[in-house]
Amino acid sequence: MKYILALDQGTTSSRAILFDRSGRPAAVAQQEFRQIFPQPGWVEHDANEIWASQLAVARQVLQQSGSAQVEAIGIANQRETTLLWDRKTGRPLANAIVWQDRRTAARCDELRKLGKAELIQQKTGLILDSYFSGTKLQWLLDKIPGARARAKKGELAFGTVDSWLIWNLTGGRIHATDASNASRTLLFNLHTLQWDDELLRIFDVPRSVLPEVVPSSGLVGATDVGLFGVLIPIAGVAGDQQAATFGQACFSPGMAKNTYGTGCFMLMNTGTRAVASRNRLLATVGWCGPPSVGQRTAYCLEGSVFMAGATIQWLRDGLQMIQSAPEVEALARLVPDTGDVYLVPAFTGLGAPDWDSYARGTLVGLSRGTTRAHIARAALEAIALQVGDVFAAMALDSGIALKELRVDGGACRNDLLMQMQADYLGVPVVRPQITETTALGAAYLAGLATGFWTDASVISEQWCVERRFEPRMSTAERSFKQLRWREAVKRSRAWAL
Ligand code: ADP
Repeated sequence: MKYILALDQGTTSSRAILFDRSGRPAAVAQQEFRQIFPQPGWVEHDANEIWASQLAVARQVLQQSGSAQVEAIGIANQRETTLLWDRKTGRPLANAIVWQDRRTAARCDELRKLGKAELIQQKTGLILDSYFSGTKLQWLLDKIPGARARAKKGELAFGTVDSWLIWNLTGGRIHATDASNASRTLLFNLHTLQWDDELLRIFDVPRSVLPEVVPSSGLVGATDVGLFGVLIPIAGVAGDQQAATFGQACFSPGMAKNTYGTGCFMLMNTGTRAVASRNRLLATVGWCGPPSVGQRTAYCLEGSVFMAGATIQWLRDGLQMIQSAPEVEALARLVPDTGDVYLVPAFTGLGAPDWDSYARGTLVGLSRGTTRAHIARAALEAIALQVGDVFAAMALDSGIALKELRVDGGACRNDLLMQMQADYLGVPVVRPQITETTALGAAYLAGLATGFWTDASVISEQWCVERRFEPRMSTAERSFKQLRWREAVKRSRAWAL
């Protein structure tokens, strides 16, 4: 067999990539799908569109290679996005509630008032926030007439996007998730690696809706023969950010990466121990297995930023300032600085380290001389400055001062952004040759399970630098920018009603 097929089901698009044994992409297909915004703060996807787009791109790349040349499938998926479907018909009961959706912020406040936040953080490693699946699932069970009663009777299945894809790929035979995805639900105990009855009671979720937890690297099941003409084993599953950490070969404790996609997600491998954050980061499962990577379960510390590349999408679609995301770079380069303009992209609240569901997007420092170029530049700076906040929190939590940062994701192609990032971190930013590390990580997880790759050292050797961005900004300038940025962040807070 020549290839592993990676399915990368992202927030804005579904991708399928065939990787060969050298870890290089041999075929790629991608399809965007609809973002649904029913009211301010709400974000939904049509579950059927997620599946249809993922299936279409998988078929496209398989047509190029021939299905018989594919050894296994690895899945990486947008995380936390919550789906509920009928086990008999496979029909979703509602649109998927996307991770960015804030509709359950008030429920999180209630739970906080009841004093549950500490217990939840201790058990799950997560901050009590509407970002995660727990309150989203509770919302679906509460609001869809008859849903909880049907769930109790075992008629309904809950899943994050990985479970939804596995269910559909296996013709409804397998209802499973992996520990990295389960660890984002608020229902999963990070230490025992099992669903937790006390958490299930808090969120009023019946056990009967839950998927079985399987290793991130190992055989899950085979695809339904009708889909691709042959049976292909599914052998790798991980949340997209954990998959990217794996794809960046961050196998040893202290190694970290940052992904610039819809949001930004910095993850640091903390080894076989979940580090309890004191600086409002998350502890999360990195991956479970394979033994060839030297750790049964690897944990990570994570800083999640909700709006990164999505800020650029907003310049494109909301303001129609540019026609495509890459154009932002040339526009921002028209000016040497932002003219003291700051854009705080709290469009869906703030994630790490501020965690404010009620913050909203804020543009400050406008003057008569402000142009589109200043705003475009401020949008890029905002991405780099948010990552800077997370980077600082991570150093405090881990006690490790990172010497460089590995980067990936769609927006890391932007050289200006990467230079800003090096400047605001004060350490080099390193871009690998393969920036599709999310898909690559899913492929590695699957290929290590089947023996397509023998062990982690082979993968570490495949990782190569494409470009290093060295910091050029003076410490004084960096400190001043960070101070102004934190001032702007303050002004975005507690705005939504
Ligand atoms: P996801 O997996 O979250 O869907 P991707 O990794 O595909 O995201 O990255 C796409 C995001 O990156 C989009 O939000 C897009 O606006 C942004 N993006 C893509 N290219 C650039 C660029 N050259 N400069 C800035 N942002 C970009």
